[in-house]
Amino acid sequence: MSGRNILVINSGSSSVKFALVNENSDSFPLQGLAERLGTEDAVLNWSFEGEKHLTSLHGATHKDAFERLLPMVQKASHGQLDGIGHRIVHGGAHFTKATELTPNVIEVIRNAAVLAPLHNPAGLIGVEASLALYPDLPQIAVFDTAFHQSMPARAYRYAVPEHLYTEHHVRRYGFHGTSHMYVSRKAAEFSKLPVEDSCWLIAHLGNGSSTCAVVNGESRDTSMGLTPLEGLVMGTRSGDIDPSLPNHLHRTLGWDLAKIESVLTKESGLLGLSGLSNDMRTLLEASQSGNDKATLAIEVFCYRLAKSLAGMACALPRLDGLVFTGGIGENADAIREKTLSYMPLFNFKLNNEANKKCIRGVAGVISAEGSPRVLVIPTNEERQIALETLALLNNRK
Ligand code: ADP
Repeated sequence: MSGRNILVINSGSSSVKFALVNENSDSFPLQGLAERLGTEDAVLNWSFEGEKHLTSLHGATHKDAFERLLPMVQKASHGQLDGIGHRIVHGGAHFTKATELTPNVIEVIRNAAVLAPLHNPAGLIGVEASLALYPDLPQIAVFDTAFHQSMPARAYRYAVPEHLYTEHHVRRYGFHGTSHMYVSRKAAEFSKLPVEDSCWLIAHLGNGSSTCAVVNGESRDTSMGLTPLEGLVMGTRSGDIDPSLPNHLHRTLGWDLAKIESVLTKESGLLGLSGLSNDMRTLLEASQSGNDKATLAIEVFCYRLAKSLAGMACALPRLDGLVFTGGIGENADAIREKTLSYMPLFNFKLNNEANKKCIRGVAGVISAEGSPRVLVIPTNEERQIALETLALLNNRK
């Protein structure tokens, strides 16, 4: 296939997700996931030209996994790999766009680990393994936070003493930037509007969920904050709570900070409310069969999402459209419908047939005539990371 090839890598503490992206194609010739790295059960799942494969990696490290990947990437790219794009969760306030991974940049990412103690060190394990194996290729970091660096101070500052911001970087950063950027650009393209003169509300709804207000291609506000715990109800994360709740739990139950953080990030959200599952599909089915707790979890999820979108509207001079994306946003017509039902003042009206049709990767307008535009746009973070990597390579020439 003609066109340049970029390998996109999303490295977690025990996993590496990868996709080979060709600039001329929306689908990936090679993609997969190495999981449980560092254990006896390490496995590599991948699909090459649509065919699925699985192999055991027995105790493999990240570097071992990259070594296994190397010949596959060579084959799938016909020996022409042009660069590697790494997803890095937190760029702090330092990175406003994708950046080439130099030793200096790696150091800054390492220092931002205080803001993302789980994610940044895991991302760097992947970066280091990949640099060791591909020393001659340009390698680029694409940050989840970078897109939101255009937020004004009134959106990113917390009302806490100033020195916490100036000396300790306590502010709102926002995440899912790669997805919000990709989806807002696609929404403009889809609606035949110029990106630089268009205004969007985006709801990215997956296991982690966030809303974003995008004006003329720039993020003006978003629901996640210092960490990805702020904002919406998510699969296992509480989202917004009374800031006094941790104190209350400590005083009344004797819980320490580690316990409180674990409960709010791993046992709350849809899982906490329903006592059943963090998975929206399971909850929709259970609700249909009369499970009241599943119904309540869905109602809280949609109401809080509607409230967040209504709040985000304060950042927009006008509304060109509301966009749903992410696993839930792209597939759950009932969630889209319920969320809009909680926003009566916006006069959203759905075309029920179009709403039902937009599942499993189908993009489209789901609003009825006379309603503000509502769209479903499947996100493609890998492609966006590859596009940003390619843009940086273009600038290097
Ligand atoms: P992640 O944030 O991990 O990338 P995804 O974007 O894949 O997650 O979203 C996962 C969520 O999407 C899960 O809650 C899952 O139940 C939900 N989902 C996927 N398909 C459907 C569907 N057909 N109907 C409702 N929810 C769905």
